[in-house]
This record gives sequence, structure tokens and C-alpha cells, in this order.
Amino acid sequence: MTLKKNLSQYFGYDTFKEGQEKIITAAVNGQDVLGIMPTGGGKSLCYQLPALQLPGITLVISPLISLMKDQVDALGEMGIPSTFLNSSLDDATYQQRLEKIRANQYKLLYIAPERLCAPAFVELVRTLSVSMVAVDEAHCISQWGHDFRPHYREIPAFIGNISPRPVVAAYTATATKKVIQEIRELLALQDPVESIIGFDRPNLLYQVVKTGDKLGYIKNTITQTFPEQSGIIYCATRKTVESVTAKLKGLGFLAGAYHGGMSPEDREQNQQDFINDHLHIMVATNAFGMGINKPDVRFIIHYNMPQNMEAYYQEAGRGGRDGESSHCTILYSPADIVKQKQLIQLNQTSPERETLLFENLQYLVDYCHTNDCLRKSILNYFGEVADFDRCGNCGNCLDQSEMVDITLDAQKILSCIYRMKNRFGLNMVIAVLRGSKNKKVLELGFDQLSTYGILQEQSAESLREIIMTLVAKGYIVVTADEYPVLKLTPAASGILKGDETVFHKKHLLNIKAAKTKTSG
Ligand code: ADP
Ligand code: ZN
Repeated sequence: MTLKKNLSQYFGYDTFKEGQEKIITAAVNGQDVLGIMPTGGGKSLCYQLPALQLPGITLVISPLISLMKDQVDALGEMGIPSTFLNSSLDDATYQQRLEKIRANQYKLLYIAPERLCAPAFVELVRTLSVSMVAVDEAHCISQWGHDFRPHYREIPAFIGNISPRPVVAAYTATATKKVIQEIRELLALQDPVESIIGFDRPNLLYQVVKTGDKLGYIKNTITQTFPEQSGIIYCATRKTVESVTAKLKGLGFLAGAYHGGMSPEDREQNQQDFINDHLHIMVATNAFGMGINKPDVRFIIHYNMPQNMEAYYQEAGRGGRDGESSHCTILYSPADIVKQKQLIQLNQTSPERETLLFENLQYLVDYCHTNDCLRKSILNYFGEVADFDRCGNCGNCLDQSEMVDITLDAQKILSCIYRMKNRFGLNMVIAVLRGSKNKKVLELGFDQLSTYGILQEQSAESLREIIMTLVAKGYIVVTADEYPVLKLTPAASGILKGDETVFHKKHLLNIKAAKTKTSG
């Protein structure tokens, strides 16, 4: 019963959250553990409480330097002695801490992964009695995840130097099977006791909004639905962060920026102002948020489409941590796909990884075009089977707009792709369907195809919308390349033979989207 006693005495909680007790008990009993819980699920307690129970010190490896101090301060207030070592400390402080570590004065020691390969640190650890090594944000070890940190790969060797082998505990909010398997293998977890708890966040209302006037949308939403409330607007680049912040300020909103190009002081200041409600809106790149624990964030708007579902889930998950409703909105425009592809290419990774990144991006594009339940689509991505077909609380489930039968258009589009031999990208297919006199179309003789100009009455935006929907429904695949090509899948024959029908939201057809970049 000492677990429960310490839970209330030190942490002030009467009960465990879902999944906590199982892994805390296992860790205290000396078993390796793997905790997979969504953001806000209560992972910190899963190593802090065992650390308190175990006889020696617990090392917590975390990439979040900014968070270490907060955690250590919070633990201090609870009466649990802990500290951190990272590059932000001056020499005298560093030495002082080492002394106290040597004198066994701490129950927890937080370290950044970079520390693991510092020989002096490795020597120090050898002299300590280490009960547990807790690896926070364990997905950083996987290069398939969204946040690879090469230093995480040094963790197993580091643990190998500690004798006797401590309990190894890993925690992440990432639940894709591939990443989890990599965590188990690369951290060499021994028969870990695992808690995988649900990724469903019923209080989050997911939606996708297609608009050419993103700023107008933001302005209206904030004024009408969330006046004076807290929200985060994520943008793909620093430049966009700057310009959106300036425009929102110009409109009189209390908005601040956060991105990696700002000085640490300015960033810290804005973060504090946001947490203390001096700023209502934080406009940020993905540099903002890992570990931010502001409970009352009422809206998370993605000004640009995120790069993958894991990143999106994490970022959207920063809304509604208090359990109250929060709106998670992607402002979709086709130009964002182009932008994200450029960002992926700028990364210059291996061709294999690039393909993976393109595939991940495509899942999000599909998400933005599906008519199915968005919550279900997210859960499916994480390998969870939803116990509902429509959640009743997402943009698609709430959408009462008229659906129109687009089967005939779909047949025309699919047969056009077939006649173009599955070898061309979105813009070429659209050009042929609309009967473009584009030089390349004529050179390739596509004006001779029976499908040339067959949908000339449709706007390019409408056709793009329909084609992407056919991709989301699995009738077409987009290859994961620099110059993606549309190809029919076997499922397409159902439409072509007239055995299947497709419907689409009427209000999204014949849309005149804002300027969309065309490429490829
Ligand atoms: P994560 O690291 O998984 O995102 P945290 O460890 O920051 O989540 O915990 C999220 C919130 O849940 C924190 O406010 C924390 O105080 C609270 N919490 C954790 N465990 C419990 C518990 N057993 N009972 C009540 N609240 C808890
Ligand atoms: Zn739904």
C-alpha cells in the first residue's frame, strides 16, 4: 500500500490514471516497462513515483531541456529531491550538483541525451547506485518517428556500463507499431510490462476547413467562438509564423510568436506570457509545445497542413488537457502539400526515408479529403479500432451539407488516368480533363484521347478536390516521389464498371480556391 500512500502524500492524487498503476508496480518490482500514453496521459508520474520507491537514483533521459527545470522545481515542492544536468548550467553550479549527486542526495537526475557520451559523466554514473533509467519521449530513438535524436541511439551502450543493470523504463506518446517495435528493440527492453492506453480524446473536435482566406477564418473563429481564450496556431515555417503574428497583432489580438529562429529569452518570455494568459494566441512552428502543459487551450489551428499524423496528433493533443472541449482545425489548401514536399526534400535524407515521409504526408492529405469520421481516421492510423463508425463530434460527422453523386465524374477521371497510362501527376491529368492547350499536353498527343476535355466545365480546384477524394477512398494512389504520379488501384474497376458509387460534399465542388501554386 505504500504506493497509494506516496501517491497521495507526495503527489496529492487519490487514484491512478488509466495505465499508470500497472507499469509503476512493475518498475518498482524491478521489471522493464514500456508506457505508451497520449500526451497528457500522465507519463511523468510513471517514473517519478517508482523513483521515489526504489532504493537508488533514477536517471531520466529527456530531450526537453526547457522542461527539466519545471519538473525539478515541481518535484522540489513535493519534497522529492531531484536535479538536472545540462549545458545551460554554469561551471560552479555544475560542480555543486555533481557533489550532491555523489553524496546520494537526489532521487531523480534529469539529463539530456547529449550527456550520455561525455566520459566524465559516464565515470560519475559508474560510482552511483542507479535503480532505474527512464527514457522519456522514447520515440526519439526511432528514425521512423517524427523526432529522431541520434544521441538516443547511445542509450543501450550507456545502460550496459551500469552494473547491476537498472530497470529500464520507456515512455512515449507515439503509438505506431513500427516505432514501438523499434523502441523495444533498440532500447533492448527485457520482457517489458507494457501499458498501451487509448488514443481517443473525445473532448477534441477535429475538423478540416478548406478556405482560400485563412486569416479571415481565424479572425472570425476567434472573435465569434473563442474571444479572450487561449489557442495555438501552428505554421509550417518561421516566416509564416512571423507574418501571421504580425497580422493578428494588427487586428488587435494578443498574439505572440514562437520559433527556433528567435532568441531563447524572447521565446521563453512569450511562452510564459501564454501560460499566464498575457498572450491569448501563440503562433508557432512545431518547436513549440513538446511538454507544454497549459490545461485550458481551447483551439489548435494548423495554418498549414502538418507533415504527418503523429505530429498532428501531438500538436492537436495540446488542446483541451483540462478535459473541456477544444477545437482542432486544419486549414487546408493544396499549396500546403507543395510546401510540405519542399520541406521534406530540403531535409535531404535517404531515398528510403524520403519515401516514408511522402507516404506519411499522403495519409494527412487523405485525412483532409475523407468524408468519413475524422476521429476514427486518426484512431485507425494508430492501429486502434474505434468502437463507433461516426463519432458525432468531428467536422465530418457534424457536417449536414448536401452530398452529391459524383460517380460519373469519377468514371471520367479514372478512365483518363488509365488512358494516360498511369504515368502522370495531378496537374497533367487535370489539364487533359479540362482540354488544356498546354504545350506538353499537345506534344504528348493527349488531345487525341477520348477523355480530352471531357470535364472542361469543371474548375481545376473542383477536379483537384474530386481526385484527392478518390485517392482518400483508395481508388487512386499517388506515388511517393518527388514527382508523384497518379495510378489506378484494383478498386477503381468497381467504379469503372458501375458497381460502385461515390458521393461528395456539394459545397466543396466548383470552389474557387485562392491562388494555388501549380507544379509538376
Ligand atoms: P504526459 O507527460 O503524459 O503528457 P503529464 O505527466 O504531464 O503527462 O501529466 C498530465 C497531467 O496529468 C498533469 O497535470 C498531471 O499532474 C496529471 N496527473 C498525472 N497523474 C495523475 C493522477 N494519478 N491523478 C490525477 N492527475 C494526474
Ligand atoms: Zn466523427
